[in-house]
Amino acid sequence: MGNTTYLHSTDTIVALATAAGKGAISVIRLSGPQAISICNAIFSGKNLLEQPSHTIHFGTIRDGARVVDEVLVSLFVAPHSYTTENVVEISCHGSDYIVQEIIKLILQKGARLAQAGEFTKRAFLNGKFDLTQAEAVADLIAADSSKAHEVAIKQMRGGFSVEIKALRAQLIHFASLIELELDFGEEDVEFADRAALENLVHHLQNLIRNLLQSFTLGNVLKNGVATVIVGKPNAGKSTLLNVLLNEEKAIVSDTPGTTRDFIEDEISIEGILFRFIDTAGLRETQDKVEAMGVERSRQKIEEAALVIYLFDVNELTPADLATELAALNVPDKPLLAVANKVDLAADLEVAAYQAIAPVLFIAAADKIGITELKQHLLRAVNQGDLTTGANTIVTNLRHYASLEQTYQALDAVLQGLANGTTGDFLASDIRRALYALGEITGDITTDDLLENIFSKFCIGK
Ligand code: GDP
Repeated sequence: MGNTTYLHSTDTIVALATAAGKGAISVIRLSGPQAISICNAIFSGKNLLEQPSHTIHFGTIRDGARVVDEVLVSLFVAPHSYTTENVVEISCHGSDYIVQEIIKLILQKGARLAQAGEFTKRAFLNGKFDLTQAEAVADLIAADSSKAHEVAIKQMRGGFSVEIKALRAQLIHFASLIELELDFGEEDVEFADRAALENLVHHLQNLIRNLLQSFTLGNVLKNGVATVIVGKPNAGKSTLLNVLLNEEKAIVSDTPGTTRDFIEDEISIEGILFRFIDTAGLRETQDKVEAMGVERSRQKIEEAALVIYLFDVNELTPADLATELAALNVPDKPLLAVANKVDLAADLEVAAYQAIAPVLFIAAADKIGITELKQHLLRAVNQGDLTTGANTIVTNLRHYASLEQTYQALDAVLQGLANGTTGDFLASDIRRALYALGEITGDITTDDLLENIFSKFCIGK
């Protein structure tokens, strides 16, 4: 494993770990061999170098004789810390000025400012956890729905990589058997049972296929479902959006086509985030501004994962609905047909509409049918699978790409087996699969990869 050969950093890093600005408390974090001695040099109270790990100490931070703040210092002595290095957390009063002063003193004593994600990067490099777990830390902080949080916590605790590591271990076994055959050169020996290898590869591909499929779900959980409401002007799109968001965020107007701006907003339905995109009407128009709206509506349908087609049930006959839905032409994603303004309908031809599509009937302005609509939204995303909780869910595009590469390499292995390819080609295809899998957990890393991952973290994490 690449990270076991890593030597502990020689420098000590410092950063504000809490959000900047006024608050009750700010926490400044140091990590590195000199973390405790540097803090001790500016701390007055007791000798921190003589204190055991996992203890908290009250005292003052001093710049010479001047008292900068009264603080609490938490000590984590290596290797029992987040980074496995000496870590000190100074809890001071939450003032940007105090934080600046303390960090300045710490820098003067020989620490340097931490880069984005550097604490977590050190934890990874020091073998504290693997790459998927480090990435999950960032996801956990970013998670703003209960499902996204659940997936991130699971991944941070290792759920995802356990499966990957098990797969990789089995493959390594075969790779080494085949490479052993190569050592025997001309002699016609086969240590690696080809049938068993083929079985394993099929098994791996099944697992990987499941992981790849879980990405759609994972993406939904992590980023929310991009949902677009389309329909003719005055169908009630803004009204519906307002009701769903429970706030007056869109402009509601009686003049057709006045909703020109796209208002993106989110709601959480049973822990799943739906990002709504309001659009101008889909009607043909001469008006330039409005025309742009129509064009952009089509564009938004492209971007959306879920489309709600809203129509005024008093304006659109079942036959019209059929024409409209055909014109919308959304074959590749869930499309929910919703009939609005049922309160105005004297004689509602429910069956006639249902014959065209599974239409849902609502009165947005009167908040009738909204609960049902929300349930339909949930169901449309994944036929209810979202809440049943697949074991392992891939949420990360990087992991997805590596899994795809693994899958392709395994395809090549299967082809090689079918054609009776020589061991060296087989071995190289297996190595390719191993490499792609190793990139996921961080068993194989490059500086670029690490830079790319950790630069997305915030400073102090
Ligand atoms: P949009 O152009 O599709 O965004 O439509 P709006 O949301 O601006 O609604 C157009 C008009 O229809 C407004 O006057 C709304 O108050 C009205 N409206 C929306 N929903 C309903 C409903 O369920 N029943 C009735 N009677 N009027 C509605």
